[in-house]
Amino acid sequence: MKINKKISTFYSLSTLITLGALTSCASLEKIYTPSSNSLAPQAAKQFQEYKKKIKVSRNSKYNAQLRRVGNRIKSVVNMPGAQWEFVVFEDSSPNAFAMPGGKIGVHTGIFSLTKNDAGLAAVIGHELAHVTNNHVGKQRARGISLIGAGLITDIALARSGKSNSTRRAVQGAYQPLASILGVLPYSRNHELESDTVGLQYMAKAGYNPKEALNFWKRFQAYKQKKGSNQPEWLSTHPIDSTRIANIEAHLDAAMALYRQNRR
Ligand SMILES: [Zn+2]
Repeated sequence: MKINKKISTFYSLSTLITLGALTSCASLEKIYTPSSNSLAPQAAKQFQEYKKKIKVSRNSKYNAQLRRVGNRIKSVVNMPGAQWEFVVFEDSSPNAFAMPGGKIGVHTGIFSLTKNDAGLAAVIGHELAHVTNNHVGKQRARGISLIGAGLITDIALARSGKSNSTRRAVQGAYQPLASILGVLPYSRNHELESDTVGLQYMAKAGYNPKEALNFWKRFQAYKQKKGSNQPEWLSTHPIDSTRIANIEAHLDAAMALYRQNRR
């Protein structure tokens, strides 16, 4: 398979950094304005494009679960004027993403890790927290330096003997999301902030926030299991233990919210 080298380099890069987060946890790279809401029209266009390129899943169980959870979460998230849309995509990579304006994509591959409604609520809450905290805009503001840093990393990998096939394998797994949405990774701080806010969203929507902890532990185990097939810089991303500790630190407050909103 012949791949445009420049594009390949950039995407393998962004995808590899992204993987350390919630696999996807990608922001929209191509657009930036200070407010997330003003990104909505462009986000909607990209979401349409994603739906054309990636098969939309007809799995009735997954779709029903996403509708059920999405409806409860959106009722507690403050996004005035959002045109909500929840879509399950046929893709075995465990990804999910939220876009300004209320477009939510969930890959079929994540359902084996979310396990139940509360697990899915943890993922959607986390992704929406990226949107409501305008991480997209903040990240885009740092975009140029990130791309620069990324390219340097990739060159360093090539020099240290990481094979092209390794890089292509990484790219292959995440390229659809990357190439259509134009991903940039969220920063570690944004990830932790979204975990904290996401806990509050799921608790307010009546889901037990302890399930977020369970989900991230399963996710960590999944990544470790996959680790044997991945370059070590993918499997040893330092955020995992920090993320679990951060969620544990905020769990009591989220549990109090949950007790008020339990259904
Ligand atoms: Zn994230």
